[in-house]
Amino acid sequence: MIDSVEFKSFVNKRICSFRIATGCSDVEENTMVKIKSGEDFGVGSACPSDVTHETMKTVEDFLGKVPRKIVGTDENDVSSIHRRLDAIAPGNTAAKAAVDIAVYDLLSKREGKTLRGFIGGAAGHNVLTDMTIGIETKEVTVKKAMRHYREGFRALKVKVGLELEDDISRIAAVRDAVGPGVELRVDANQGYTVEQAIQFCDEMKTLGVVFVEQPVKADDYAGLKKVKEKSTVPIMADECVRSLADARRVVKDEAVDLINIKLMKSAGIYEAMAINKVAESAGIGTMVGCMGEIQVSIAAGLNFVLSSDNVKYCDLDSHFNIIDDPSSGLSFEDGLLIASDKPGLGVSTPMD
Ligand SMILES: [Mg+2]
Repeated sequence: MIDSVEFKSFVNKRICSFRIATGCSDVEENTMVKIKSGEDFGVGSACPSDVTHETMKTVEDFLGKVPRKIVGTDENDVSSIHRRLDAIAPGNTAAKAAVDIAVYDLLSKREGKTLRGFIGGAAGHNVLTDMTIGIETKEVTVKKAMRHYREGFRALKVKVGLELEDDISRIAAVRDAVGPGVELRVDANQGYTVEQAIQFCDEMKTLGVVFVEQPVKADDYAGLKKVKEKSTVPIMADECVRSLADARRVVKDEAVDLINIKLMKSAGIYEAMAINKVAESAGIGTMVGCMGEIQVSIAAGLNFVLSSDNVKYCDLDSHFNIIDDPSSGLSFEDGLLIASDKPGLGVSTPMD
């Protein structure tokens, strides 16, 4: 039985401010949640963003209403917990993700298993992650790419979507600088028209880019499908797949080649597993990405990546850009993000 739900918010400066096609940010805001049941506890965290229409204030307001809905209920019944959270209000997926992650952390720790072992039984404990570079001048983009290469990253994700010609020349410059051995990924954050996206993808093919993420507006499913049909580079959905229903839609429409799952969009692990299953049954691979998250939810995302062979890409890098992350437990070596082998998420936090 769940005995208590507590939360605490953290605002952390970014090492570098981060500009994408839809805005710019200097801080990362996360709210940590702790759920107790008898002697056991689990932690999770929420990272609000424009994508889910949440702020730290809405997350705190929502979490304030959670105890009276789930205290006294069975922590093993995750589906019922989600029904209770949905009864508070629709949306609020980052806030719900924090509760979901805390419950999974608690349940897997209680069984003495890592989270990945608890949900999938996978054997590995590390995976290639990219480092994301926001929209910058060509010179700064190349400088950052080389810095991340020296830091050990062997995959880079570059943000584009403001100026087509400039974007193409930036990606070409990065490819020149880092050479053919680094995996390049590109994210347009809805910045292009359908025609621009098709032209852009042609150019990306020649530069060996492995996928182009959300080239057109989130609500333009028909446009996305058109780009996918014309493009020789795989097209990934991000902003247009925020839920299981959205995933079913793009799968049915055959609108994309890949889906970017983020725990903050899917209200946590429970629905992320369902989205990944829907994708897998249609032969669509997934990536696990992140918002501006601390190690608590990054560890949850990493364990999710490691739990399923259908997760083809890992884009878990926001914690590298935080000053004084209140949580720890992950490590990084030779381009690989490494999960702890301790039970649950394997992270340490001030709420432990
Ligand atoms: Mg994206």
